[in-house]
Amino acid sequence: MTDQRVFMFSEGNASMRELLGGKGADLAEMTRAGLPVPYGFTITTASCRDYYTHLGHIPLSLIEEIEAALANLEQKTGKIFGDPANPLFVAVRSGAVTSMPGMMDTILNLGMNDETSEGLATITGNRKYALECYARFIQMYGHVVMGIENNAFSKLLRQLNTAQGTEHIGQLEQTELVELIDKYKSLIHQRAKKPIPQNVREQLIDAVRAIFRSWSNPRAKVYRKVHKIPEDQGTAVSIQEMVFGNLDEYSGTGVLFTRNPSTGVHEILGEYLPSAQGEEVVMGIRTPFGISYLAQTMPAVYEELHEAASRLEAWYGDIQDIEFTIEQGKLYILQTRGARRTAQAAMKAAVDYAKEGIITKEEALLRIEPEHLNQLLHQSIEAQDADKVVATGLPASPGAVSGALVFDSETAEAWTSVGKRVILVRRETTPQDIHGVIAAEGLLTLRGGMTSHAAVVARGMGTPCVCGCEEMELREDAKELICGEYTFREGDLISLDGATGQVYAGEIKLKDPEISEELSLVLSWADEIKQMKVYANIDQPGDVKYARKWGAEGIGLCRTEHMFLSPSRLPLIQRVIVAGNAQERQEALYRLLPIQQSDFEQIFTEMDGLPVTIRLLDPPLHEFLPKLEVLEGRKEHLRMITMDGDTDELDKVERVISKVQELRETNPMLGWRGARLGIVFPEIYDMQIEAIFRAAANCIDRGISVVPEIMIPLVGHANELSTLRRLVDEVAEQVLRENLRHCPYRVGTMIEVPRAALTAAEIAKHADFFSFGTNDLTQMTLGYSRDDAERRFLSQYMEQKIVEANPFEVLDEEGVGELMKLALTRGRSWKPQLVAGLCGEHGGDRESIRFCHQIGLDYVSCSPYRVPFARIAAAQAQIRERNVSVPQFGSEVTSTA
Ligand code: PEP
Ligand code: MG
Repeated sequence: MTDQRVFMFSEGNASMRELLGGKGADLAEMTRAGLPVPYGFTITTASCRDYYTHLGHIPLSLIEEIEAALANLEQKTGKIFGDPANPLFVAVRSGAVTSMPGMMDTILNLGMNDETSEGLATITGNRKYALECYARFIQMYGHVVMGIENNAFSKLLRQLNTAQGTEHIGQLEQTELVELIDKYKSLIHQRAKKPIPQNVREQLIDAVRAIFRSWSNPRAKVYRKVHKIPEDQGTAVSIQEMVFGNLDEYSGTGVLFTRNPSTGVHEILGEYLPSAQGEEVVMGIRTPFGISYLAQTMPAVYEELHEAASRLEAWYGDIQDIEFTIEQGKLYILQTRGARRTAQAAMKAAVDYAKEGIITKEEALLRIEPEHLNQLLHQSIEAQDADKVVATGLPASPGAVSGALVFDSETAEAWTSVGKRVILVRRETTPQDIHGVIAAEGLLTLRGGMTSHAAVVARGMGTPCVCGCEEMELREDAKELICGEYTFREGDLISLDGATGQVYAGEIKLKDPEISEELSLVLSWADEIKQMKVYANIDQPGDVKYARKWGAEGIGLCRTEHMFLSPSRLPLIQRVIVAGNAQERQEALYRLLPIQQSDFEQIFTEMDGLPVTIRLLDPPLHEFLPKLEVLEGRKEHLRMITMDGDTDELDKVERVISKVQELRETNPMLGWRGARLGIVFPEIYDMQIEAIFRAAANCIDRGISVVPEIMIPLVGHANELSTLRRLVDEVAEQVLRENLRHCPYRVGTMIEVPRAALTAAEIAKHADFFSFGTNDLTQMTLGYSRDDAERRFLSQYMEQKIVEANPFEVLDEEGVGELMKLALTRGRSWKPQLVAGLCGEHGGDRESIRFCHQIGLDYVSCSPYRVPFARIAAAQAQIRERNVSVPQFGSEVTSTA
């Protein structure tokens, strides 16, 4: 570990990301490769962490290191910081280890004061330009360092523009710019009670402090929470010689992607604003030209840019997002980073790189964020209906969505919290809108290009987004969105298609996603590599279609109780429960039997020989009956309208009420359910087992191979399993004998009670397989009610870091995981070949899947839509275990510079 806190770009390299942040490391690497990067240096993330440890104090030793680097920078550039005759100006930028676009601060043109700005005027012979730079600096410094809200500055600029009949700062004349600077200065004086510093060294250190501070601004915190970025990383600060994109018509600034970040297609996609500075493209304040504008107006510069972009992409082996500035016809690369891209683009690029031999299949697989797969599984519009299209903007983030229109982030949040689906429309979004963007199902902006903040953030979160929809008019005060002949108001339904950029009036019909060619190739690579099988959890026979479609290799959990819940079936199971005598109960069961049998037959047929694990009834019986309050209400009503002597209906309701009262438990989740129910009230299990084997026999008749796996829930004692296993064997034997069929089958248990894990050796004697029900196992190990904890205390626990993550989403390895390991070792000590899997919600979570792989489970089972995700995560676990060294960067640098 080095004590060095400041590194010149030429001293660093790409492997120093932790210390220099992504931006600092990339700038260093580009400098080493001889790309045209303005000189500069980076202050480490460790310095930022120290800043927080020392309660906002910057030590003298760090200031000395900054001074030394500054002297070095002066020597390299031949300019002097603060010297009016030959001034050096710098950009001060934040740069975390993980990119957080737009969430932290940047200050451009630092080093400007009354004298150096006049110096710049003399050197360039362009005073108007120098004044404009000075005004921009005062605004940025006043906002970021001195804490005055941006709006106050924008208001002064707007007033001046209105008075002059101009639209932006670039159109103001010298005298107006001088007036603007004076107004900005008075604003600062008035609000901060001190002037903007004229001492450039003071400016620099205060700016560094402000960037450190911006690590903990509210929007950065929200962003880190959403993207699971550790709070304690801190940001690096890069200080770099300013190059000026607003100097003349041969200057400008832009952003480009080396491949299309929306589709992954190999094409340069970029935006360029002539005579503009820094953040204007990213902020979406002015809508830029396409990159072809640069190719037409400055072909030689475009060629150089194109070549630099290709080199950067080949070198990193990844789509690059490159920021550049042109100063008087000379190109400078200001930043390169792995582009935020849609899942579709990530997938396509990874597959293309692997096909081109730039990376291996394993590297390609590791590049795929399983979380992004839910983007790929986004809905799209069923039938394009051109008549309903009211406007077309840029296709910034794919996916189609319908929702109620809202005009501000607060409403988006409020409406979403009461279950409404909303589409947020903004003129442009700023990072302050992050809470609205998170809440909204879809995002629509009038200004800004594909690289604007809204587009970048939406893509990262998989939220459908259409931006730059300039043909619309937004009346924010009136909350009206005008679009040709249409006027939309708050709450009106609209729809977006983020893949085409189309905006529709009203709601549109959506269709389910299909697996793309690239995804299916990547999934086939995952299947070649992964060791664990991936099964699906289903609730209904209809789910099997999706399980197969997404590649499930079996059914790991069929929750049979859900098959009772349709309106036509519920009364039947209710009748079983409230039956007055054995005959009534048998009759009701007799009617349920063919229904269950047909469900199972359908499942076996569609799974065509693949494993099907059917869990016998699990929940407490009262869950099938109406709530007591509802029944009491009905009773009251009936009592009022019932005539003497006609009390049939009333009697029935009273019978149900007394049954509900009888079944009432204080802790139903720890009560009469699962195996306990099967033992004390075996009739339902009996019927379910019979239905399974009748279905199996019918399938065998039709030539379909079937090996039913019957799973007993909530076992805590070996005797529970041995008792119920006996029941399965008896019923199976009887049904198969009657049908003259032979059918192999397996009987297993869920491991979801801690005692079952501890006594797994005993339990394994009666089990052909174990399936960890980690929902209940988490509930019972931690003693957190799975139905209440998330609502009550878990979010606070996570905020206060009492627990790292929600244990119902990410497996608690230290607690629940230890029990699983123990159960596996003890179970397999008795039965070495014991098959074991997991079927709780954790089967769809990457880290939990890695853990399952690590402890040697045979499969994980998750909901059908998570299956592709789990296949990739299982392959990633295998690759990581094999320790395939995955270089951060693709090929070697072949510098042509
Ligand atoms: C479990 O407990 O993990 C499980 C899969 O069963 P259920 O969620 O149905 O209780
Ligand atoms: Mg359970």
